[in-house]
Amino acid sequence: MIKTTTWKPDTCDCIIEYEWDTDTSSSERVHTIKNIIKKCDAHNNIINKTDCFDNVMDENTRKNIFIEEIKKAVPELIEEITQEDGSKKKVFKENYDCKWTFDVDRKLEIELIGFDETAKNKVENIILSDAKFLDKVNIK
Ligand SMILES: [Zn+2]
Repeated sequence: MIKTTTWKPDTCDCIIEYEWDTDTSSSERVHTIKNIIKKCDAHNNIINKTDCFDNVMDENTRKNIFIEEIKKAVPELIEEITQEDGSKKKVFKENYDCKWTFDVDRKLEIELIGFDETAKNKVENIILSDAKFLDKVNIK
């Protein structure tokens, strides 16, 4: 069955409608862009709607994966909490956090809060050792 999803990413103000087939497995699933309901200022100059969707998806995925990589790199700063629905979630311990934003060139900017030099270096190493982050993520 073809389903339509309206997506509001947390990485920009675009609102995008895409279609996907519920009969395909999640690893093979293809998101077909249907309509861009709203284009944010950062993506307003991208005319082609598939290009726009790809850009927004790329930024959103990069942010999500990078935050997960940070949590893996500094397990000493992470604790696991149980949410109301019983599922578990990894969060930063008290006094530690990371905040993210995108700069004008749509580079991911990460602010590490409470991290000492050793922990910061571990995060820098994620960027240096992975081509998908190199030159696309900055530590503030
Ligand atoms: Zn956007």
